[in-house]
This record gives sequence, C-alpha cells and structure tokens, in this order.
Amino acid sequence: MTSTITNTASPTYVDPPRAASLPARWMVCTAGFLSAPDGAAAGRQPLGTRHARAMGSLTTRCGRHAANWVNFYTRAFEVSHPEACPQCRDLMAADRFGR
Ligand SMILES: [Zn+2]
Repeated sequence: MTSTITNTASPTYVDPPRAASLPARWMVCTAGFLSAPDGAAAGRQPLGTRHARAMGSLTTRCGRHAANWVNFYTRAFEVSHPEACPQCRDLMAADRFGR
C-alpha cells in the first residue's frame, strides 16, 4: 500500500523587487536615510545617492568606504533609478556585458 502525498498548496514565495537581469546580491546603500514616521528601523527610506553594495562588503561597488552607511537589504540596486550612483551604475553595466 503506497500513499501519495499531493501538495495542492500554491507557492507563496514572492520574488523580491529587483531589476531584471542584475544580480540580486547588490543592494541599495546610502549615506543617509529618512526616518519612518514611527521611528522604526524597518521603515527607513534611502536618502540621497544610491550606491550598490554587496552583502558583507565594507565598501560600495564604486569603492567608497561605507561601513557606517545604511544598507537596504530588501532593495536591489536599480541602475535606472534617478538617484543611482553613476559610477556604481557604470560598473554594474560593465558586469552585465561581461567585461
Ligand atoms: Zn557608488
């Protein structure tokens, strides 16, 4: 007698927002941030130039020392964002074309 396990549940995984075709490991990193109305850290918003930063790295993609900057782990760096760092953007573009 065999039993068959049938999983009828729909996948609940939701893909995090990120720019298509870019590695998700590059997250947004900024020198400043806007506080959430309730002061919660989770509600912070990036302020100023957005740099790309890899998880665990002390510097941004463009080489700026960013140990004390704010990381937005759930936000992928988007090259098309108006406040994206031009140097980070260029370096990311170079990666995409297999420099
Ligand atoms: Zn940068």
